[in-house]
Amino acid sequence: MSAQTKLSGGDAITKTEIRFHNTLSGETEAFVPLVPGEVTSYTCGPTVYDFAHIGNFRTFVFQDVMRRYLKSRGFRVIQVMNLTDVDDRIIQKSAAAGVSIREYTDKYIKAFLDDRAALNLEQPEHLARATEHIDEMVKLIQRLTEKGFTYTSEGSTYYRIAKFPSYGKLSKIDVAGMQAGARVDNDRYDKDNARDFALWKAPKPGEHFWETPIGPGRPGWHIECAAMALKYLGDTLDIHSGGVDLTFPHHENEIAEAEAATSKQFVRYWLHAEFLLVDHEKMSKSMGNFATLRELFSHGHKPSSIRFLLASVPYRRQLNFTPDSLQGAASSVERLRNFVARIGTEKFPEGSSPAMLERAAKAREEFDRGLADDLNTAQALAAIFDLVRDANIAMDRGEFRQGDAAPVLEAMEMFDQIFAVLRDDDALKLTALGITPEVPTLSDTGVEALIAERQAARKHRDFAASDRLRDQLAEFGIILEDSRDGGVRWKRK
Ligand code: AMP
Ligand code: ZN
Repeated sequence: MSAQTKLSGGDAITKTEIRFHNTLSGETEAFVPLVPGEVTSYTCGPTVYDFAHIGNFRTFVFQDVMRRYLKSRGFRVIQVMNLTDVDDRIIQKSAAAGVSIREYTDKYIKAFLDDRAALNLEQPEHLARATEHIDEMVKLIQRLTEKGFTYTSEGSTYYRIAKFPSYGKLSKIDVAGMQAGARVDNDRYDKDNARDFALWKAPKPGEHFWETPIGPGRPGWHIECAAMALKYLGDTLDIHSGGVDLTFPHHENEIAEAEAATSKQFVRYWLHAEFLLVDHEKMSKSMGNFATLRELFSHGHKPSSIRFLLASVPYRRQLNFTPDSLQGAASSVERLRNFVARIGTEKFPEGSSPAMLERAAKAREEFDRGLADDLNTAQALAAIFDLVRDANIAMDRGEFRQGDAAPVLEAMEMFDQIFAVLRDDDALKLTALGITPEVPTLSDTGVEALIAERQAARKHRDFAASDRLRDQLAEFGIILEDSRDGGVRWKRK
């Protein structure tokens, strides 16, 4: 299915049907929200016991790309993200720091929101702190108890998974050989161990607890998200997303809770992002192989490079994180920014060329087609880089006209509505975070690429671009020496 529709005020282009891979069906399906024109979306947020790492941000960037894309296609998006501000680690760490849970988590919530702003992640409509929704969780547990889905043991309340026949439908876990009544108190456990899980945990000595009609204690993790999703988005929501590690047990358990309580389908599309890896291992706090945004910023990496890198690999592909890939992303962003600056500063002959108009419309169409295909950001990006290459060639040949600027810039705007990297505000963002970077580094290949771009600019007597590239190289501590024969040598300061 496709339709002629205006996407962003320019010429009509063909819009493709949006398709998402749904973990529930295991298939890529046409995306049709429950209420036309409106998308309800739930995002599992961070557990705020420490700074989030860039593996976490891989998933948050994917969710932002999805949100921005749906908005650009005219949907009103209502997104909820929870902040898990009570769990075992938080209880332990706040006690060790001698501060209240609130004080401890406030610090990391602020850091998380500041990091999100640095990455241009749009704010969800509702940010929901778990500790502010204890009532909703207790009521949901009471509903489950009334329907016979729970039992208590030593002051804790557990969910009886044998009572929910479709348990396992999301993660495809086989519950056949499961030992009835085996239970688990930890919120995170592996697939080989399907268990009755804790909805409400009895307090341990000295631990923070809430006094409630179901007894003193604190909530399990899964009931948090189920209760908050039902509260803000109703019984059935369109999209629920997170990293692949949340499929089991977290999302499986959310389904069991919500659907047992409402007897309705909880989520229509489940989307899961693959991991960001380091040396082929999942980046995680427990492996100790993680990098926070702030660490990368203070080593000279820009917010825009990180956002670009995280967005550029389609969310269902693993992303192997390396310093080189980050430098490649930095060069890509620079190429795009230089291109837009070139259009803004260079003088082109009057008139417009039908070929370039058509070229820009094709790029917009392909960009949209890429994203419509399960958010294939790599395909969408290829459409933009092809346009940049072709337009640069046309400019070099003197074939680019004044009137071609607007349609090409329109394609660049369409790109930036989703990728959000063209504004050169990296330095401002670092200042806002109070970070002064050490001298940034650029790999030899990165240096050569920028030099080649500068040489091309010089060849075409585009001295503004050539100076900009020289300055950019200087920022990385690279000194250029132009030789008489037009060649260039470089060295590090
Ligand atoms: P957490 O705070 O552990 O609940 O994680 C917050 C989000 O980050 C969840 O959606 C996780 O699935 C996701 N996540 C954690 N580690 C990674 C990783 N290495 N790559 C991609 N996403 C991750
Ligand atoms: Zn969740």
